[in-house]
Amino acid sequence: MAKKKKLEKKKRKTVRTRNWEDKHEFAFTHDLVKHRRASVKLPEAAEESNPLPVNFEPNGVVISHAKKWAFVELAGEERLCLIDERLKEKDSTLLAPGDRVLVEFENTDAIVRGVSERTTKLCRPGHADARLNEQVFAANIDLLVVVAASMKPPFRVGLVDRYLIAAEVGGVKPVLCVNKMDLVDTPPEALSLYRDLGIPIVLTSCTTGEGIDELRALLKNKCSVLSGHSGVGKSSLLNVLSPDLSLHTKAVSQATQKGQHTTTASRLYVLEDSIRIIDTPGIRALGVWGVSPEELTYYFPEIAEAAGECRFRNCTHSHEPDCAVREAVENNAISSARYASYLRIRASLESETGMTPGRMMPL
Ligand code: GDP
Ligand code: ZN
Repeated sequence: MAKKKKLEKKKRKTVRTRNWEDKHEFAFTHDLVKHRRASVKLPEAAEESNPLPVNFEPNGVVISHAKKWAFVELAGEERLCLIDERLKEKDSTLLAPGDRVLVEFENTDAIVRGVSERTTKLCRPGHADARLNEQVFAANIDLLVVVAASMKPPFRVGLVDRYLIAAEVGGVKPVLCVNKMDLVDTPPEALSLYRDLGIPIVLTSCTTGEGIDELRALLKNKCSVLSGHSGVGKSSLLNVLSPDLSLHTKAVSQATQKGQHTTTASRLYVLEDSIRIIDTPGIRALGVWGVSPEELTYYFPEIAEAAGECRFRNCTHSHEPDCAVREAVENNAISSARYASYLRIRASLESETGMTPGRMMPL
């Protein structure tokens, strides 16, 4: 009975989607409320005389967006732009902060009429209704700053590893930032693991200002995402990097008051020194998206290296005899903390096999 109900519900949704596809909602107005209600069909002739550009040089960067409009950085200024309906029909994950776009003007309206291909992206899976749609929350990122605290919350290898994998999957270079250094005398011992892997590390304190200049230098001329467990000090770092940021945030929320509930969680901030940061406040855990349990080894380079010597080619390095990985752990050639983290992530990926691909992984 319950199953039948579910099916009926699904069917209804499909029908509604189809109807939407035949419809063009077109109303270029800055009144967002009016815009949301508008349902004006664009005459076909108008579409033909105004086709979407194919080859273009982007002139703006998306700061934040809702379904029908986006804030775009255009020539150093933030501008509210409408999104051409025809773009939206193609792709439900059309825009994300960091996307490079072409904005054209029609009368006084600024309209997003093209989106450049992304160089990198960080995503989490779409919600249950859009199973196979990944949800991109940051595009064209140069750096993923994995923020951890030296304590409060305690430094945990398992957490850091998940964020590092998300960076690798998205093709983004990671940096490890250990904040709250004022609370400890010495950096966490486990840091040497990441140093050995060649991951840049910066030790910071928002309280004393330690390492902030170093962090600023790493972020200069780049677009970065700060991620990490809640409470590690991501917002504090942003505020220390740019003390007037909170003011900035307020101004923007006033400008978008009408459509506030439709804005996405992430937003790009442009700071001094061409530092661009995409803040993703709603996202506590980056999902490991599109990684099979077998592929996981690849994201632990030291494990991948040892795995070549395992007796079985499909060794999971958890229980098999003659496993070179477990031997390396016993000989301390591979850190037991990283190995434990590998096993935990692998177990959670395996428990998801057969379920929605790339489901958000609980932290
Ligand atoms: P977020 O959840 O990662 O954005 O973390 P917050 O920036 O909100 O910081 C969480 C708590 O840690 C707040 O009470 C901050 O005042 C505190 N905090 C942030 N950075 C530091 C730091 O460098 N040293 C100390 N002692 N506390 C910090
Ligand atoms: Zn093995």
